[in-house]
Formats: sequence, structure tokens, C-alpha cells
Amino acid sequence: MAERNVQVTSRLGLHARAAANLVRVASQFQSSLTLQRLDGNAEADAKSILSILSLAASRGTDLRVVAQGFDEQEALDAVVGLFSRDFDETEKVDGERFSRATNELRAKGLSVSDGIVIGRVLRLQEGTRDVYRAHIADADLERERRRFRAAVRLSRRQLEAIKDRAEKELGRGHAYIFDAHLLFLQDAKLTRDVEDYIFKEHSNAEWAAKVVGDRLLSIYTQINDEYLRERGSDIEDVIQRLLANLTGEGPKYPNLSEDAVIVSTDLLPSTIAELNLNHVKAIATDAGGWASHMAIIARGLGLTAVVGLRDFYHRTRTGDQIIVDARAGEVILHPTPETFEHYRFTVHEAGPTVDTQAKLECGPVKTRDGVQITLRANVELPAEFQAVADFGACGVGLFRSEFLLSRPGLMSSEDDQHEVYKALVESAGAYGAIVRLFDVGGEFGPDLKERERNPALGLRAVRFNLTHKQIMRTQVRAILRAAAAGPLSLVIPMVADVGDVRLAKRVIEEESERLASENVSFASVQIGAMIEVPSAVLTAEKIATEVDFFELGTNDLVQYTLAVDRGNDKVSDWFRTLHPAVLYGISRTIKAAKNAQIPVIVCGEMASTPAYAVLLVGLGAVDLSMIPAMIPRVRTVLEQIDANEIHELALKCLAAATADEVEDLVKNLSFSA
Ligand code: PEP
Ligand code: MG
Repeated sequence: MAERNVQVTSRLGLHARAAANLVRVASQFQSSLTLQRLDGNAEADAKSILSILSLAASRGTDLRVVAQGFDEQEALDAVVGLFSRDFDETEKVDGERFSRATNELRAKGLSVSDGIVIGRVLRLQEGTRDVYRAHIADADLERERRRFRAAVRLSRRQLEAIKDRAEKELGRGHAYIFDAHLLFLQDAKLTRDVEDYIFKEHSNAEWAAKVVGDRLLSIYTQINDEYLRERGSDIEDVIQRLLANLTGEGPKYPNLSEDAVIVSTDLLPSTIAELNLNHVKAIATDAGGWASHMAIIARGLGLTAVVGLRDFYHRTRTGDQIIVDARAGEVILHPTPETFEHYRFTVHEAGPTVDTQAKLECGPVKTRDGVQITLRANVELPAEFQAVADFGACGVGLFRSEFLLSRPGLMSSEDDQHEVYKALVESAGAYGAIVRLFDVGGEFGPDLKERERNPALGLRAVRFNLTHKQIMRTQVRAILRAAAAGPLSLVIPMVADVGDVRLAKRVIEEESERLASENVSFASVQIGAMIEVPSAVLTAEKIATEVDFFELGTNDLVQYTLAVDRGNDKVSDWFRTLHPAVLYGISRTIKAAKNAQIPVIVCGEMASTPAYAVLLVGLGAVDLSMIPAMIPRVRTVLEQIDANEIHELALKCLAAATADEVEDLVKNLSFSA
């Protein structure tokens, strides 16, 4: 046996790429090679990258290198030599410190829906897959192992190709990291542990990979060295690749663990769309504000949700116990037994309960003085289509279709989209439905890796469509074809002026002509424009001459009028829907539509809030579209008001100087919701 003490002097510690070098050198020898921390805390096999990384050897760590075998002296010299050369690493590191809390941890956020839920964390990364837990029968365990091994092989082939490309395009230095990824995939610590888990727990390979991956990651979160801790993301990368290859190739499992609480930095509509919603109990995210799309979807689906939790995601592991208290705007990770007991008796899940009385009431509502108001539904996902009938909506005022597109690289085909739009028309009934052309870019991000510096002001909505015409054409064709099944309209999102409308209409005309020449059955549609940016408000008269209707997107109108990011909880105090400038924009748009004799549907979150819906009627709105579950409440309130009286109040609000002044005026409204 030969041994020698060494110290990690590299500024970055013994991180992934350094460890990859070490494995490469150690593997050239027959002898076994072990690294022992001199503080006695851990020991690692120098031929296993994951084992080395679990030493958490940051700069200054003292280690003993032990070699045993016929070439032990050469092996020892080679490894010690590598240590003395700092593993040939040259990067810099910051010294921020971090430690993972394992005690009860409370984080404050912003409640965007109601309810209290106790469940288990299921971590979802942006753009990554959901992971199901499924029970595998004895007879199928071997097949499951083979499936896992096939995914490992596929991942390896992919990584080798990526490495080759990186080497050619960026140089050897940049390709190094993929060596580390490849070594992770070969490492028995990962592969054997996953296979053991599959057999011991009768688990599907996805779940096993996720659990083992999360365990490995948790080692990293305890490392008292930020740079090394960050290297955990390399493991996360490899696990995500494995998961993608597993779910891509293998069977889909329908059962999500029964009490899943989705914890994420942010959530895409497409990710929510892919979840088995019967089992998701709540959502907790680092980003988000009241009017963020994810919040809108959570409310629509009746999911308990707290957003704006800042850096909560990184503190969690899949399987951790969690309480989401949307009443207090708080989440509690690892609750103590006392906290748990306290909540066990107060648990109350949110949900759009279907009021049987409201179910009978449908169609438009009349104010006390006889003004008729149409109440429509905003929907995002096919799972919500049934709600249109359940809550007595006059059809669908806004179908946010983005879930069909927002996953990087994945777009529903024309036929698949056609099926969804047809189902929408069927659920909407005689009042029909309005499909919004993809409002991607901005918050939705079609390719998250290429985020723009300022996405809300970037290639979003109509701009995205006009740039990616093929995507737009496919959607337009699917909509035109579905229109043959019933009343369907189309709305163009975020137009800046009539120029955007004209360009979009030309594409729609071209696709109509093409469908006609192909003898495909379709029907023409009414075309509307979303009015949601100040330039559109200020030129609304011009836009009105070119469209069949307006839709007022108050969420974006607030965002762009007040220059307040709707998804940034840090500025949520400045997101003031009742700001006089916003009311002026709404009033101006309604007047422009009236003069042009076209309808205007108000479809932002504002219409879903009873007191605000009243004010909208005061400003002249007679067509509101909202979260279906809010329709009964808004109906009850509008039945009690006198539109004329409210108009007087709206004039006072328009003359106010600040949002506070408007809120004071609106507070005096009396009605029961
Ligand atoms: C809006 O901006 O108010 C709107 C209805 O669209 P979205 O919330 O999807 O941007
Ligand atoms: Mg909008």
C-alpha cells in the first residue's frame, strides 16, 4: 500500500471537471485508489466521479491518497502530481457561503389563489418534464432496468455528439465539462443506485432517477463553497437528460404521486398543461405576480398557489414535506410536528366549486337599469373547457392558446391544433369562442435558452408571429378549419398599431386562399385586435377601421402603461389596476370601438374582480371575459348595480390623480358578492 497526504489548493476545489481529470488519471492504473478526508468525514473512490464529488473537497481540504495494487507507486505519483498541478484548472471563484436548511423553513410570497394544502414537493425545472411515480410489478422489473440502461446509452451518444461539436466550435476547454457529464453516466454510484432503487422500491426508472439524482444533489447543497455547490447543476443536467430520454422512449405513466406540490422557479403554461391535474394539489414558485400567466392559470384551475418566493426552489428536494398556505401567503418546508398538527385540522384546498344555483343561470346579465352585459370565459387549457357550461358563460371570450407552443422545440401539429380548437368550439356553444394567436415571447419564452434582455418589450406576440410565419400559418390554418364546426374568431395579440393588424391579416388571407385552393373545408373568421399597449390605445380609432372587434387586455395595459413588470413581485406595489392612466386607456378604447360600431370585450384579470367589473361597466364596457369560476360572483354583483349611477362614479375616477384616490372612490361602492 502506498499513501501520501495532499491539500486541495485549487481555488475551485475538487469540482466536476477537476474530478473528471482525476478519474481519467486514476482509471489508467490497476491499483485501487482512495481519497480520504483527513478530518475523517468522508472517503471516496478516485475512479468514481460522483464519489469524488461527494467528498465536497473545497479549497484547503486535506486529503490522504491511498493506492493499493501492483502499480500502486506509479498510481500514487500520477494522482499526487495532478493535485500539485491544481488539476490544470484556471477559473476564478467567488467565496459566497451557503448552507441548506433542514429545519422548518418558512418563506413568504404572494398568494394568487385560495386554499391551504399539505403535500410533498415535486420539483420542476423550467422546460423540464414532470416525473411520475408508478408501481412496477415483479415481472416487469427487469424490463424497467433495460429501459433505464437504454436511456443511459442514448444519453451517452447524445453527450458524445455534443462534446465533439463543442470541441470543434469552442475548443477543448469548453468540451471538458461534457467529459464530466459522460463520467456521471458511467458512474456506478448513479447507475447502480438507480437500478437498486427500481428493484427495492418497485419504482419506475424515471422516479428512481429523480430520487437518486436529488439525493446526489442534496450533497451539493450542503457544501460550504458556492462554486462547488453550483456544480450540482451539472448533475441536474445529466439527470434531466436521462429523464427526457426515459419519458421520450418509454411508456407514459398516468399517476403522479397523489399529493404533489409543484415547486419551480417559474412555470410555463405548457408544463402545467402536461401535468396530471388530478394529483397536483398546489403550486409554489420563485417568480410571478398576481397577473403573471402562471397565476392566471392556477386560479383558472382552482389550484392553491403562492408565487414570488424568490430563492425557495433551491432549498427544496423532491419528496420533502411542504405546506402551502395561500391564505397567509406562506409556504412551510419540513414542518415541525406541531406545525403539521396545526395545519392538519385547517387544510382547505382551493377549487372552483360549482354552485348548483349558478349553474342554472347562464347567458348575459342585466343591471338594475336594464343594461345587458355579456359574461364570457377565459380559458387556457382543454381541462377548463367544461367550465364554460358549468359556470354559465356566454362562450369563450379568450382562449390563450400558448400551451400548444411554449415548450422549446415542441409545437402541436396543424391537425392536433385543429382538434383542440374544434373541442373549444363545441364547448363554447352558440356564443362561440375567440382564439388568440400565440402570445409567446416575453414571459412565455419559446426558447428559454435564448431569452431576450427585455422580453416583455421584445419579440413577443404579434411580433413573434410575423417573424416566425410558419408557426403562425400553421395556427391560422388550424383555426380556419375548426371554424367550419361553429362560431370561432381570432384575435391578434399585442398589436402596436394598425400596421401590425394589416400584416397579420395578409397572412390570414393567404392561408384562407390556400385552404380554398386545396379544397380543404374551412370557414372565414372574425378578426379582432388585442388592445393592451399604449400605442394601440392612442391609435385605437385607426385600428378599429381594420378589425371586427377589440379585446382589452388590462393585464398588459397596466404593465405597459405604468411600466411595471406584471411578473415581478418586487414591484407588485406599483402594479395598480385602478390607476387613472389605465382607466383613461380603457375609456378611450371603449369610445373608439363605439364610434366604429365594433364590440369590445374586456378580458384581463380586472373583469374577474367584482368591484373592478363594476367600474368597467361604469366606463361603458358591456362585454366581459373572465376566469369561469368568477362568473357567478360577478353576475351577482352586476345585477345589483345601476349602470347610470356607476357611470357618474367612473367619471370621478377618471378625474382622479392617483390609484389611491380611485381606490377610495371605489371602496364606497356597496353590493354583496
Ligand atoms: C391581458 O393582457 O390582459 C390579457 C388578457 O392577456 P394575457 O394576460 O394573456 O397577457
Ligand atoms: Mg396580454
